[in-house]
This record gives sequence, C-alpha cells and structure tokens, in this order.
Amino acid sequence: MSASWTIPEMAVQAIPDDDRLWVPQAPQVWFRPLLLNTVQGEWVNLLKVTRAGMLSRHRHPAPVHGFVLKGSWRYLEHDWVATEGMYVFEPPGEIHTLVVDDDVPEMITLFHVCGALVYFDEQMRPCGHDDVHTKIELCRRHYARVGLGDDFVRQFIR
Ligand code: FE
Repeated sequence: MSASWTIPEMAVQAIPDDDRLWVPQAPQVWFRPLLLNTVQGEWVNLLKVTRAGMLSRHRHPAPVHGFVLKGSWRYLEHDWVATEGMYVFEPPGEIHTLVVDDDVPEMITLFHVCGALVYFDEQMRPCGHDDVHTKIELCRRHYARVGLGDDFVRQFIR
C-alpha cells in the first residue's frame, strides 16, 4: 500500500484512441503529453509531425532523450537520420534544426525533455522557448477548446 503523500504513479496508453489528446504545436505538428513534471522542470511527450520541412532550430540547456516510434527525422547539423526504433541523446548546449524529409508521411517520436527548448530564428537570435509550464498552458487551452476541459491536463502533471 502506498502512503498518501507519495506522488501518484502513471500507466497509460501512449498513443491515445482519442485524437483530441494531441495538442497542436504548429501547423501539422502535435504533441501528446505523457508526463508534465513541474517538480523537476521536465516533460515527456510524443511529438507527431505530418509535414515535411524544417520544424524548429533550438538549443537545449539540459539533456533530451528521444525514441523514434514511427517514421524518421534528422538534424541539419548532423549526418545521421533518426529512424524507427532508434534512441537519440541530445546533450546540453546542443543547437540543432529539426527536419522531416519529403518521403516521410508521418513521424512520431517520444521525447523526454529536461529544462527547456530555446528557439532561434534565421539570424540565430533567441525567439522563444518552451518549458513544462508553457506545455501545460498549451494543453490547458487546447483541452478546453476541444471540450475535454482545461482541468484535463491535470492527470499528466506531477
Ligand atoms: Fe532537440
């Protein structure tokens, strides 16, 4: 029996039956929150992309772990392609540009992101960020809009 003050565990189907769980992040880009950890400032989500091209250039102040579930993607700055079944470690300090190639109709990758993503524009100027709190806010607004209620996101928050 677990003590009442422990943090509740989580065991969920990662790819949901209900498509409303996918939160729009950009045109044809969605994330499905799994864990929004406000205590350690990190989150775990699935990223789904159904368009080809450049998605974002960003820098990581803290580590990221990725596991490709479907399709493939790559970083302009590296010569490898992340394909289905591959694990990717993105070290702190790394700046890279996420690209999905034309022959990939859909990619889904699980990302465990510590800290934040800092976005950079074409001139390499910082132009925004995401952290667990901006993710929670995106979820809150989306779930309210699609009728699940803005409290729906609470189940993912620890
Ligand atoms: Fe990254």
